[in-house]
Amino acid sequence: METKYIFVTGGVTSSLGKGIISASLAKLLQSRGYTVTIQKFDPYINIDPGTLNPYEHGECYVTVDGHEADLDLGHYERFTNVETTRDNNITTGRIYQNVIQKERRGDYLGKTVQIIPHITDEIKRNVKLLGTKHKFDFVITEIGGTVGDIESLPFLESVRQLKWELGKNCLVVHLTYVPYIAAAKELKTKPTQHSVKHLQEVGIQPDILVLRTEHELTSEVRRKVALFCNVEPKAVFQSIDVPSVFEVPLKMQEQGLDSVVLEKTGMPVGETPSLASWRGFLDKIYNASDVVRIGLVGKYVELPDAYKSINEALFQAATYNGRKLKLEFIHSEKLTDENIAESLKGLDGVVIAPGFGNRGIEGKFVALKYARENNMPTLGICLGMQCMVIEFARNVLGYSDANSTEMDVKTKHNVIDLMEEQKSVSNYGGTMRLGAYDCELEEGSNAATAYGSTSVKERHRHRFEFNNDYKDEFEKAGMKCVGKNPETNLVEVVEIPELKWFIGTQYHPEYTSTVLKPNPLFVDFIKAAIEK
Ligand code: GLN
Repeated sequence: METKYIFVTGGVTSSLGKGIISASLAKLLQSRGYTVTIQKFDPYINIDPGTLNPYEHGECYVTVDGHEADLDLGHYERFTNVETTRDNNITTGRIYQNVIQKERRGDYLGKTVQIIPHITDEIKRNVKLLGTKHKFDFVITEIGGTVGDIESLPFLESVRQLKWELGKNCLVVHLTYVPYIAAAKELKTKPTQHSVKHLQEVGIQPDILVLRTEHELTSEVRRKVALFCNVEPKAVFQSIDVPSVFEVPLKMQEQGLDSVVLEKTGMPVGETPSLASWRGFLDKIYNASDVVRIGLVGKYVELPDAYKSINEALFQAATYNGRKLKLEFIHSEKLTDENIAESLKGLDGVVIAPGFGNRGIEGKFVALKYARENNMPTLGICLGMQCMVIEFARNVLGYSDANSTEMDVKTKHNVIDLMEEQKSVSNYGGTMRLGAYDCELEEGSNAATAYGSTSVKERHRHRFEFNNDYKDEFEKAGMKCVGKNPETNLVEVVEIPELKWFIGTQYHPEYTSTVLKPNPLFVDFIKAAIEK
């Protein structure tokens, strides 16, 4: 079949859940047997979100091919179980970078390089790449930002052109907001009408409207929106607040979002899939009564999105263990030897978060010492694993100045040190050890038992590593290096086998955890936490 391109735009306000609607539609089409991918266009100038502070856009997600990406790609993977790549997340910065490189190379043969057609052509090339190179049946492209923003104009212009070029093979789904005015006891459609007008002004007639609302929409409201916005009444959907985002695909299927998409793209509709395993996951969520309490020790506690994938991986693992996840964010900057017992009281397990830089680092050591001495199930991720190593060096090996050279370049005991290939790196963007690498796990280790395998592949994002000069000393004292990269010998996993569950991973296992395929390390960690 010819690839179908579906664009998802948003109006009225941000945070309406374009990412979830895109992922839900993908899930529905996928369960009808189509191959589907989702792409995100971000209108900012950064080449990618890798250099952004988590306070800006939350966590930086990492794809299997080592692209630092918007956290929405995490939703896409968790919903569809399909890996994304660097082709799935494009920023304005990258579009301009490509065009400017072509201009420098002389590709434009002396022409004046302009937004139309050169920038828009580059945008369109990046959309179509997923159909031509990756051969997906459906490409869903989410346009970041809100209609009316200056920044998204070149993207919308490209969508307008593609609608002309692709005809039936291209659809626009526009997501808006219908506020409820309590004093008037009325749902208001005017913001939706205005936002569709905005789209029409740039030449785009949406085919489908999804109205985000906190109250059921009456058929009267839907008819009115359809009439004023030139959209068929059956193509107006509501996206009402639900207790779990994992219900959104079901809510969309009930209203027939996927069948309207198929009809409009000229595809046979066929039978409605049962979504049995998805429903099974939801049942597990709602049937879980007992709680598992996990503490996440990190420095971005005010912003849960900074740890989005960890949060989701823990949630999936708890759900598959038949528990409700109660996640407590613990501010590493506030932890001291005096308050640590109180701070971790009642928790079944702790996760020591990834991160960069000195802020809050000492609190992570305090938490790790307490967890180690009190045999609490503990998972250290990336910087969290490095902190496990440093704490052990300080308090067990007796090197009180042990550190990572990231925090103290002059430390005599550099148990965590800059990787050899990082020493010549001067640019910050896209230069870390990124993406999926193989890891061989020692037979019989707790990590191998958790995975049920001795060879795994997980994604990385770091510059520093375990210093192999210290390996023997650590192993003699009881911290084992049980996971290694087979080519480079880099230590990927450490554990203390004597303790119930104390594992640190240099990689980020959270990125590969999905709704229907939770990451085994998280599942095993939660299991240990429950047993405790
Ligand atoms: N800052 C550490 C490093 O660069 C850890 C990075 C992380 O936690 N993602 O090695």
